[in-house]
Formats: sequence, C-alpha cells, structure tokens
Amino acid sequence: MSGKIEAPRGTLDALPGQSAARERVLAVTAEVAGLYGYRPIVTPTFEATELFLRTAGLGSDVVSKEMYTFTDRADRSLTLRPEGTAGAARAYVEHGLHKTPQPVKAWYAGPMFRYAAPQKGRYREFWQVGFEAIGSPDHALDVELIRLFVEITNRLGLGAIRLELNSIGDRNCRPAYVEQLRAFLTERRSELDDDARAKADTSPLRVFDTKSAHVAELLQAAPTIGGSLCADCAAHFAETRALLDALGVSYSVNPTLVRGLDYYTRTVWEFVNDDLDAAQSTVCAGGRYDGLLEEIGGQPTPAVGWAAGVERLALSLGALEGQQEIDVFVIVEEPARRREALVGLAALRARGVTAETDYAGRSLKGQLTQAQRLGARTTLFVRADGVAIRRRGEGDIVVQTIEEAVDQL
Ligand code: ATP
Ligand code: MG
Repeated sequence: MSGKIEAPRGTLDALPGQSAARERVLAVTAEVAGLYGYRPIVTPTFEATELFLRTAGLGSDVVSKEMYTFTDRADRSLTLRPEGTAGAARAYVEHGLHKTPQPVKAWYAGPMFRYAAPQKGRYREFWQVGFEAIGSPDHALDVELIRLFVEITNRLGLGAIRLELNSIGDRNCRPAYVEQLRAFLTERRSELDDDARAKADTSPLRVFDTKSAHVAELLQAAPTIGGSLCADCAAHFAETRALLDALGVSYSVNPTLVRGLDYYTRTVWEFVNDDLDAAQSTVCAGGRYDGLLEEIGGQPTPAVGWAAGVERLALSLGALEGQQEIDVFVIVEEPARRREALVGLAALRARGVTAETDYAGRSLKGQLTQAQRLGARTTLFVRADGVAIRRRGEGDIVVQTIEEAVDQL
C-alpha cells in the first residue's frame, strides 16, 4: 500500500524556484504597504462559522455554496476563512481597537478557502493580499486604497489593468432603490435563471453579480442605484471621483457594479485584467463596509478595504525568470576541510553575502557546474594547501585559511 497521494482538487503547489511571479507580488505588496502606512495583521485561518454567517449573509454564494465548515472535537462549528475582512473586523472589535487612534490601517497576506469549481485562476485554496482602513468615513481613504493598488500594479509593471467604480448607497437610500429593483425583477421573473431568481428573493442587489450573459443583458434595462443616492452618498461619491481625477487615476463608472456581500456601502470597485479569462479576470475587489462592524457586535464604525487574488496577479505577470544569482559558491576539494568550509559559509551568510555549497557529494567538475548553475559571482576552492578565491573573469588569489578568504570578500 504505497500508492502516490496527490494534492486535493483545486489546490496549488508553489514550488521552489518556480514561483517568482508570486514572490514578486507579495514582496511589492509589502513594500507599498509600508509606504502607505498600513501595518500587518495576522488573524486565524479558521473562525467561528457564525462570523461568516453574519458578515457574508445567508444568501451569498460564499455562504450558501463555498464554505469549508467543520465541527471540531468539542463540537464547535468552525469555518476555514473564505476572505480576510471578517477576521480583521472581528479582531478590531475583540481587542477594542476603536480606543486607539483612528483609522486603524492594516494589511494581510494569506490563504483563503472556498469550495468553488476549480479553473485557471479559481482555486479552493488561494491567497489574497488585503488592506483595511477601519474607523473613518473619509473618502480620502477610499481613494488612498485605490491608489495603493495602482501603485502595486505600476511597480509590478501591469499596465493594462482597468478600474471600475460605483456607489451602492447606504441604509438611507438603498432600501427604496432595492424596492424599485425588486419590482423590475418580479416583472421579468420568468426570464431569469435559477441563480438570479434566488438572489431576487433574498438580496436583489446581488443579481448584478451574475456570471450569465443572458441575465446581464436583461439587467441593462434595470434601474441603477446611481439615480437613487441620497445627498450624503452622492457627495461622498463626487468627492471620491474628484480626488481620483486629481491623482490622475483613470476609472470608468459601472452603474451595475455591486459587491457580493451585504455589508458593503457607498464606494465599490474592481480592478480587471482583460488579458485573463473573463470569468476570472477580476484581480482586486474592494469597497466601503460601514455596516459590518455593527453586525459583529462593534460600535457603528465606518471602514473601507480591498482584497486581491495573489494567483490572479501572478498569472497577470506571466512567467518570470526565477533564478536568483548568488554571490559565492564554496567548492570543497579537500574533504578533510569540509567542516572548516561550512564554518566559513555561515560566516559569509552572517555578513549578508548569499553563499552556497555542495550537499550532494559532487566531484570537483560537478561542483563547478553547480556553481555556474547558481550564477555564482565568486567561487572559493577549499584545498589541502590553501583556499583559492576566483572572481568571475579574474585570476585566482590564494590564501591559507577560510577566515582569510572570508575577510577578503
Ligand atoms: P469572483 O467573482 O471571481 O468569484 P469574488 O467576487 O468571489 O470573485 P472576492 O470575494 O471579491 O471575489 O475576492 C477578491 C479577489 O480574490 C478576487 O477579485 C480574485 O482576484 C480573488 N479570488 C476570489 N475567489 C478566488 C478563487 N476561488 N481562486 C482564486 N482567486 C480568487
Ligand atoms: Mg467568487
């Protein structure tokens, strides 16, 4: 009984040396997070199921079809997190972060879990990077978060990503609009698909979040939220747009853009890469969620954030050259001096020099090939009678001990 075991369906292995695009996405995100004053938050990968039931809403795709829910040994219902905002908001409330200077600006990177039909760019375990600014209604934060993602895509060299923007109002103006929409949908009920009919009953705004071309076409004639915004929401949206214009961030207003989750208010946006397959072309989605913290027992607390799919951004980057060049390769010609050579290797690394050696019992020739493969700029030859330092394109310098060689580098 020793058959091979494969990774679960819909999961990915990011193998060493083959994940340069993904590493670059994560590194650039961390760099830009620092520039914009967002600090890391780490929350558990599983939470009480109740958290997602309250924040994602019973009618959502995530809750109805995609959650990985299990009971632990003490009969608690837990769920592998499908997204990161709920956990960050829970932590903000649980640790009383409203008592600290507002807004709290946090970012995360980590795995999310959804039982979706696997395709290229859609997985059951995938990574998101996400940013949250909790504790302020200021439109400047909506814009800051959008500009922050633009900065990430600029640094990644992803030119062709476009921004779609909308406002979905708040609890003052949305209910009246939802009634108009409900009436529209009731009239056309027979033309809707099952998915849209179910959403029309539970949460009509979500019908816009459809993957059916037919339903999308039908919805062209539907009333849109834009005409129904109250004065405050309209002003917030106008200021958001004016500041985006001032920053030179281009966008198009998409009046049918909504978010799949109930707690979103006002600004919603998506960044789309049209070079990816249409059903998986959204690389980043964000919005204001002024209603979320109350849902989980916090004070009324305005907040805004976004999440981006790391694999979709990596796919957008395409294959990157993954080979990192090293500074030094240590060739051990005299086996009796290997321990000394390994001590020298550690000393080099301690000084910030990237250094490698052979761990596979290679011959001298094999070790030279390995040094070349790793792109070593300098090779050290540890011999019985001394240590030779060979810099690329230069003659050998011979010293006695490995310490002397390390000091020379
Ligand atoms: P979609 O419409 O593609 O299902 P979504 O609305 O469910 O996306 P969000 O919950 O807004 O997605 O998640 C934010 C981002 O995370 C998406 O824009 C996408 O880049 C990424 N993402 C979401 N689900 C997956 C998945 N199953 N596999 C890979 N990436 C995903
Ligand atoms: Mg989805």
